[in-house]
Amino acid sequence: MLTGRKYRLDLAPGQAEFAERIGGVCRSVWNTALEQRRTYRRREAWIGYHEQARQLAEAKGEFAWLAEVPGHCLQQTLIDLDQACSRHGTWKVRWKSKARTRPSFRFPEGAKIAIERLNRRWARAKLPKLGWVRFRITRPLGGTVKNATVSRDGPHWYASFLVEDGVVTPERHDNPGSAVGIDRGVAKVVTRSDGRFHHQVFARDREVEHAKKLQRDVARTTKGSVRRKKAVARVAHLARKIRRRREDFAAKTAHALATGFELIVFEALATKNMTVGVAPKPDPGQQGAFLPNGAASKSSLNRSILDKGWYRIELATRSKARSTGACVITVNPAYTSQTCNVCTVVDRRSRESQAVFRCTSCGHTEHADVNAAKNILTAGRAEFVQPSPGVRAGARKPRRRVGRKANRQATAAQATAQTEPELAGIPRL
Ligand SMILES: [Zn+2]
Repeated sequence: MLTGRKYRLDLAPGQAEFAERIGGVCRSVWNTALEQRRTYRRREAWIGYHEQARQLAEAKGEFAWLAEVPGHCLQQTLIDLDQACSRHGTWKVRWKSKARTRPSFRFPEGAKIAIERLNRRWARAKLPKLGWVRFRITRPLGGTVKNATVSRDGPHWYASFLVEDGVVTPERHDNPGSAVGIDRGVAKVVTRSDGRFHHQVFARDREVEHAKKLQRDVARTTKGSVRRKKAVARVAHLARKIRRRREDFAAKTAHALATGFELIVFEALATKNMTVGVAPKPDPGQQGAFLPNGAASKSSLNRSILDKGWYRIELATRSKARSTGACVITVNPAYTSQTCNVCTVVDRRSRESQAVFRCTSCGHTEHADVNAAKNILTAGRAEFVQPSPGVRAGARKPRRRVGRKANRQATAAQATAQTEPELAGIPRL
């Protein structure tokens, strides 16, 4: 199976500068190509990867700064853009800003990347045009390299290799028949249906205060000044530290879940609703003015610090599950916190407080999150036929699609079916 291996690079000063330049060129290729796609769309025309790649090859003859960076990285940028546009639509794909995007570029040809071990601690990789780059080999590569991505995070450069390690997903989990429901929350990050918790405080109160102070420091500096640059770097340093804690937590939780249970049921997160902005509150006393509405507290810095990384946990679990044979599914979370797991009566008053669930019907009392996690497990079990121990392969029950979404999908399917003949001959996205 394909796995990632990430190492911190020890670049020579010249190499770091060159890497920064490659990152910059890839960024401008992305932005130019995106603008081109949008311009075409405005004129109701369409341009795809192949034409853009052809134009890029032509442009390399004209501009030396394009020709000096590895051509494959630029092509890869166009491929990435193509994929992003077909997945999210040309208008939703975002620009890469110099200040906000971390430089990153990929060498897509693993066969052209040579890797040599120098001694017990160090190894080096030969990347096209960048030359030999040294890195601390903190864990073995363990397979053949498929591609390499070089990126910078703060002051350090990293190389992550995509490796085919030859491991195959086991047909049955080591713990057949076991299942767990997961409730993700704020008071406890992860609550399991067996009553256990996985919790960590990612940003301590002191750090949240410090982040606010650092943010004020940034606000006091002038745009483009050296002081601003330093202040921004301090904010980024703290944010990075917190992000790492979250990544570490996600990996450990994912490991515990994927090795312990064959079926893991998450609630499907409605991220769209969660990230919705705050409505502006007009000031009744003054026309055109607005009262504070708490929008600032939803700012990106706060989000990045207070974020519990729920999606990351799910993603890490799915990734880990590939090597243990566990199955990860998501279910609709509606009413899971208001339903009694014993008598299945739904009543919002049953949730007495953040932590306590006391059923108004049967009196069943439990930790509110554990009750919710149990409901999630029940829903998951109803949807997924788990093979009994000793039997091979799990089957998914056919899903009933109900509600507005299903209707919308049906209408969309009909619409495309009807208009399809007219569209013949026009290249489709
Ligand atoms: Zn009950």
